[in-house]
Amino acid sequence: YEAKKTGGISHLYSPAISEQRQQRLSLENRLRHAIDHEELALHFQPLFNMQTLDVIGTEALVRWPQEDGSMLSPGNFIPLAEETCLIRPMGDWILEAAARQLRDWHDAGYPLTMSVNLSLKQLQSEGDVERFFELVRPYIDPRWITLELTESIVASDPSAIESLMHKLSEHGFQIAIDDFGTGYSSLSRLQHMPIQILKIDRSFVDQINTPGKGNAMIPIIRQMAASFGLLTVAEGIENEAQYQHLCKQGVDVGQGFWFGRPVPEAQLREMFLQGATIVPPQM
Ligand code: C2E
Ligand code: MG
Ligand code: MG
Ligand code: MG
Repeated sequence: YEAKKTGGISHLYSPAISEQRQQRLSLENRLRHAIDHEELALHFQPLFNMQTLDVIGTEALVRWPQEDGSMLSPGNFIPLAEETCLIRPMGDWILEAAARQLRDWHDAGYPLTMSVNLSLKQLQSEGDVERFFELVRPYIDPRWITLELTESIVASDPSAIESLMHKLSEHGFQIAIDDFGTGYSSLSRLQHMPIQILKIDRSFVDQINTPGKGNAMIPIIRQMAASFGLLTVAEGIENEAQYQHLCKQGVDVGQGFWFGRPVPEAQLREMFLQGATIVPPQM
């Protein structure tokens, strides 16, 4: 009878599940510790003017260095950070670290822009907008900072997000819609949002030169951006054929492994020292 009972209990509280919860809890505690001790790192990926190949700026992408020397990608810890609200202190650190880095680059004579990704949980009230401004202001004019919001964030609560976007914009921040073309936002609303940039989702770039796949989306997004007066950025450009195709389509800015991977600041500086020209976009 005892054995049967134990068997029943172990069936309900399967060790596999409790192990999973334990791992999650330990990951959460390690992440909290990493944020508190400023152990996260930023890598930077350059953005290029498609026509001139000048660098116009960089995108900050968060990384979590592990004790064994490996590096966790945001896909491995951002979802957990979002579920546990750790995204708020993490996001504050990222924004301030990005602004501080930009100050350094400007002081060194590199007039770059900086794109920073935001999660929905970081943008809940006007207080968040004020805090972003206070975090950035000691280092740099917010005009040099582009905040990237995914199209799905914008679609999640369009009127609330729109009003926060207006506040961000009043403080000088530039706003980009990230992963555009996949998030089901309302185009009529988009037209009235204070945004400057559409980042065409990587999935559309992947389809270029793939036999059988339609390439209809890119010219449509391009035309829409032109009529709204927005700059287009193509992300995930991995080869010259994709670059040539997007260039012909009139896409303004490119980003991807073909131009350069996300790298630590020292490696990016190396690229500047080797003579990459930096020309920020007209703002
Ligand atoms: P995203 O903002 O769309 O960033 C672009 C992602 O595509 C980056 O992955 C980048 O490394 C990758 N990528 C760039 N060029 C290429 C390419 O040519 N080919 C391929 N296959 N991939 C390319 P990463 O760094 O792993 O970031 C993934 C996502 O995590 C980001 O997508 C963004 O949504 C989120 N994320 C990254 N950093 C932050 C952050 O600081 N805060 C927040 N809230 N989210 C972040
Ligand atoms: Mg992004
Ligand atoms: Mg993107
Ligand atoms: Mg993406």
